Amino acid sequence: MHGAEVHIIHETGDAVVDDGHRTRSVLEGDGMVSASPSAGLAILTADCASIALGSEEGVFAAVHAGWRGLLGGVIEVATAAMRDLGATVVHGALGPTIHAECYEFSEDDLASVAARYGDGIRSVTSGGRPALDVPAAVAAAFDGANVCPVPGIDACTSCSDRYFSHRGRRDDGRQALVVWSIAESPRP
Ligand SMILES: [Zn+2]
Repeated sequence: MHGAEVHIIHETGDAVVDDGHRTRSVLEGDGMVSASPSAGLAILTADCASIALGSEEGVFAAVHAGWRGLLGGVIEVATAAMRDLGATVVHGALGPTIHAECYEFSEDDLASVAARYGDGIRSVTSGGRPALDVPAAVAAAFDGANVCPVPGIDACTSCSDRYFSHRGRRDDGRQALVVWSIAESPRP
């Protein structure tokens, strides 16, 4: 999916949301939130932003944010769901995603994103074409949702051969962002 659908994972177990290019996902959607100490959440991405969110209360989330998901408020939706489950201060980290130098964007679509997140999301590609700055959009969404940013992975999926890139190299592979709670699991 490339929207803002967020699932709450209540049960013990693991769940995977992928980026819509594959069919073996457990769930279709763009984000998962859990407060279960025995759950693990994984997001598969190629260029879209993968985001880990967590709180001291043991509420956590894994979010896949393409530009449409960002526009749809997927970070805000996930954060609100975390607060519903008892999270107070929410911290967020951004994983590898495509960066502006590799992400040419149409003026119309840039205007849509800028209307929500400000002109800081406007950038240029290495070839001087209009570009979307995904990390800047995520930072603006964090700011709007009162998420405290923590250092993530500052790498462009398209430039770096350490990561899969759909847009840059038509890679079929995806990287996984896995999020779990370090709260102690209940003993049987
Ligand atoms: Zn790049």
